[in-house]
Amino acid sequence: MNRLNFKNFHLSKQTFLMIAIAFAFSVLVRLYWVYWASGYLAFYWNNELMISTNDGYAFAEGARDMLAGFHQPNDLSYVGMSLSTLTFWIVKIFGFKIEAVMLYLSVFVGSLIVVPVLLIALEYGAARAGFIAALLASVADSYYNRTMAGYYDTDMLVIVIPMFMIWGLIRVIERKNSVDIIIAPIFVLMYNWWYLSGFSLISVTTVIFLLYTLILDRKNMLNYVTIALMLLGIANLNFYAKVLLMVAIYIGVLFKKDRLNLKISFFILGAACIVFVLGGGLNPIVFQLKFYVFRGVSEVADVSFNYFNVNQTIQESGIVNLALFCERISGSVVVFLLSLIGLCAFCFKHKSAFISLSMIALGFLALKGGLRFTIYAVPVMALGFGYFVTSALEYFKFKDIKYKIAYACILILSLYPVAKHIYGYKIPPVFYEKEVRVLDEFKKIAGREDYALAWWDYGYPIRYYSDVKTLIDGGKHLGRDNFAVSFALGSKQNSSANMARLEVEYTELGFNQKIGENLKKMMSDANSSSIGEFLANLDDKNISLPPKTREIYYYLPDRMINIFPTILQFSRLDLKTGQKFADPLFFAANSLQQTKEGIMLSPNVILSNKLDSVIIGSNKLKLNSFYETKYNENGKLDVNVQVGDDSSKYYVIFMRDYGRILLLDEEMFNSTFVQLFVLERFDSELFEPVILDSSAKIYKLKR
Ligand code: MN
Repeated sequence: MNRLNFKNFHLSKQTFLMIAIAFAFSVLVRLYWVYWASGYLAFYWNNELMISTNDGYAFAEGARDMLAGFHQPNDLSYVGMSLSTLTFWIVKIFGFKIEAVMLYLSVFVGSLIVVPVLLIALEYGAARAGFIAALLASVADSYYNRTMAGYYDTDMLVIVIPMFMIWGLIRVIERKNSVDIIIAPIFVLMYNWWYLSGFSLISVTTVIFLLYTLILDRKNMLNYVTIALMLLGIANLNFYAKVLLMVAIYIGVLFKKDRLNLKISFFILGAACIVFVLGGGLNPIVFQLKFYVFRGVSEVADVSFNYFNVNQTIQESGIVNLALFCERISGSVVVFLLSLIGLCAFCFKHKSAFISLSMIALGFLALKGGLRFTIYAVPVMALGFGYFVTSALEYFKFKDIKYKIAYACILILSLYPVAKHIYGYKIPPVFYEKEVRVLDEFKKIAGREDYALAWWDYGYPIRYYSDVKTLIDGGKHLGRDNFAVSFALGSKQNSSANMARLEVEYTELGFNQKIGENLKKMMSDANSSSIGEFLANLDDKNISLPPKTREIYYYLPDRMINIFPTILQFSRLDLKTGQKFADPLFFAANSLQQTKEGIMLSPNVILSNKLDSVIIGSNKLKLNSFYETKYNENGKLDVNVQVGDDSSKYYVIFMRDYGRILLLDEEMFNSTFVQLFVLERFDSELFEPVILDSSAKIYKLKR
């Protein structure tokens, strides 16, 4: 142990400069979206561009509540969550506007990826390879997509922190210096706090590090202590107890290092293992695998009904397109392949680089688990590319100016596909200004304990802008949670109103008592044993309802029209068997074309010129009636009807101001969403309009 050497922590001027340039590059590239988006007034709220990630609003709500210093019990606010807390401190310390932090945090924090990438490369003295890698990693497609401006989510550190962890492990192996053993465990602690699902990556990395040690570095006792510290870092233990234990071990090793031997290292590792296992830490991995890898598995084992499983609608978990997979990781297929070659060569030359393969393993899980995983492979593959490029240049004996020119050309060529991707990746914010204006107005009307009944996509933004409660949101949308909301939006007004009141009151009850599934409890309280009968009975205005504890508002946005058929899947099924009902007819045509035969709604659907029938292929459907909605000069919605064949069960609604035509069957026509949002025909005993904007309508439930 004569290697205690703090000099290595000193950053050389050149290193610092490279990090600064790479960081500035990453930041500047991300500002392109800001530049593009700033051309649209509809993207602004409170003089700042709005964020483009739905989940971000959950953290924003948490931060807002932390800044306010209070929130309501059971409002599901993300108070105290990692990103909320970070945002809270930044706003508190620097006095920035919360909207500005939401917009720019990912730009700066996500760009930190260049630091561990360069530090890893520098451990191998491969600064030039590291510089290419840092530039590529900071902007390659999937990393950019999830750390771009306005992408306010935990993703901004989900790759950065484990890369620092891997750097720490590589350092321990490469330098065998006891000072370094705390680096990886510090980032383990940080990761564990930042991102709960990070558990799996930490464990995979720890296992690889252990295997490496057993096979190639068996005598290095520092490795065992590092593993022990990492295990303590993720152990299910009180945070302060963990830190105390870790610091104690670290200080012991640091100052009594001459007395450290293999026996003591094993003892420390054994003790850490026991603490870890007793904490029962392996459960999160099992859950993750179940959800993403074994797609068909029912979401919760102990529910009594066969709900519609939400991962059946998550598009992301589809089968992967290989070219897209490569592009998301490296920007292009060519760079991906060269990276792969480079990475193999790199690991062959520097065995300690094997540790980074945990990131690759998780990234390649995308081939089975869906494209969301590609992001993990980005920085390590970029290192592979950097190594390939510099090795190739050395192989061909490029020197001096020739080297520099070739280096610059390759850099530009490899970044070009990425630049094209970024130029084309223009995603709008989650909500537009006019929608937020509605929510802002709603905030002044509703109380914080009131509920907004809305589809889960709108849950977090509603809570952030209106500070009300919601039944479902981006984190609570299992089939059992979605059922009632889907039912309330798709059924007739009576059934809808009853279900809304029941679901809200039972949800609140469920926070204070263990009542199990709401629906089951409702049925048992109503002495009903048949779910079909129970649901059918909700159409009765006189059924007994639990006492009303708060107001309920329906939030009905225009944008919901496009996902309405998907929403209905959650309630249009036989809960006893899981059997789907026949698909309803709900067809929204957003581009209309006048032809000789009539108005073409889609290539084989034509509305006759007399507006009394629809021709689908060779079939002619007579219409019950043709409706037209139109805003008059006072901003009120006028609804005109042309009655057709009253034996028909088909309806057409022309929403003139939206340039949209709906083709509906009777059930869809009578659904609460269509009646309240499209036609503003509400049963005044049940509903009272509160805000009637063309982008979103809010009704108060009178039951
Ligand atoms: Mn609240």
